Amino acid sequence: MALKIAVNGYGTIGKRVADAIRLQKDMTLVGVAKTRPGFEARMAVEKGYPLYVAGNGKQEEFTAAGIRTAGTLADLLQQAEVVVDCTPEKVGSSYKPVYEAAKVAAIWQGGEKANVADRSFNALSNYAACRGTRRLRVVSCNTTGLSRAVSVLRQRYGVQHWEATLVRRAADPGESTRGPINGIMPTLTLPSHHGPDVQTLFPDLSIATSAVVVPTTLMHVHVNHVRLERPPSDEKAVVDAFRSTRRFVIFPGSDHIEGTPQVIEWARDLGRPRNDVMENVLWEGGLKLLGPDLYFFQAIHQESIVVPENIDALRAMFELESDPARSMARTDETMGIAPPRI
Ligand code: NAD
Repeated sequence: MALKIAVNGYGTIGKRVADAIRLQKDMTLVGVAKTRPGFEARMAVEKGYPLYVAGNGKQEEFTAAGIRTAGTLADLLQQAEVVVDCTPEKVGSSYKPVYEAAKVAAIWQGGEKANVADRSFNALSNYAACRGTRRLRVVSCNTTGLSRAVSVLRQRYGVQHWEATLVRRAADPGESTRGPINGIMPTLTLPSHHGPDVQTLFPDLSIATSAVVVPTTLMHVHVNHVRLERPPSDEKAVVDAFRSTRRFVIFPGSDHIEGTPQVIEWARDLGRPRNDVMENVLWEGGLKLLGPDLYFFQAIHQESIVVPENIDALRAMFELESDPARSMARTDETMGIAPPRI
């Protein structure tokens, strides 16, 4: 019997998670919930997803917009074993009592505080520890990108200390009211919250992060400086370590991927739905080892990187697959993420 899943919140993350669930043989999407009608609600119905009204949303507004609904969030939760909460940042935690009353397990996203769930989740970092847990939080896009890289480097070389500067996108492509549209905005909290968020997965990792927001919608870029405990003799070993891990793409110089515009163009040319790039993106030429100090850039597609992680979180939670590598492989195959090249 396939796992019955509801998605509450059908925006940037929710619509991608819903589509990804539909691709899994061991999962069924019982419906999605949204507060307001609009093109995304209309398209959900056109895709055949039963649509439910959440929060303070009004059924009459959907009806007036000609969008068919199947009931309320309460009706949806009755049919589900688990809900993936994709409501806006800081809204998700307000649903915790609702999910508990409905006796459904829940996955929240990185916009919620870590304590909303019993554990934070990232497939590469702590799948095994999350097996059987009924409340998980899939960490944010930036934390997902950092944690994947931490997993690779820590296991092979040990990490004495990690410093990262996050160059963050100002808004998602579909948003028109966020900014800046001209400026570079330092986040005036030092260190930024991202380091402590990585520590929800690696409590003993020494890490400090800072962030600036820039006028772009395509991707984030991380500038990493990592002091390794047991550094390899050259960069090639590190490149191979990343290249042999799922959900990493490392572009050689000959590909002329000069920055995030070409990364998105690459995803377009692959025919990826919505140009999604679910992998950490690294540049071979953007990785340098100086003694024990590793410097590297990585680009993170904020809209999609957490989507395969939500699928793996569902498998871990319901023990649909005991082996993290097998879960990731199944997820990646269905979502068109290529296996490691070496
Ligand atoms: P979004 O604003 O694009 O979508 C939110 C959806 O929830 C919309 O469909 C909205 O109509 C609906 N909604 C609003 N209030 C609601 C309510 N009370 N009940 C039910 N639905 C409601 O947001 P998003 O970018 O998809 O973010 C969702 C979560 O994912 C947040 O925690 C965010 O921090 C996290 N996240 C976002 C990104 C990103 O870059 N967009 C990346 C990783 C994680």
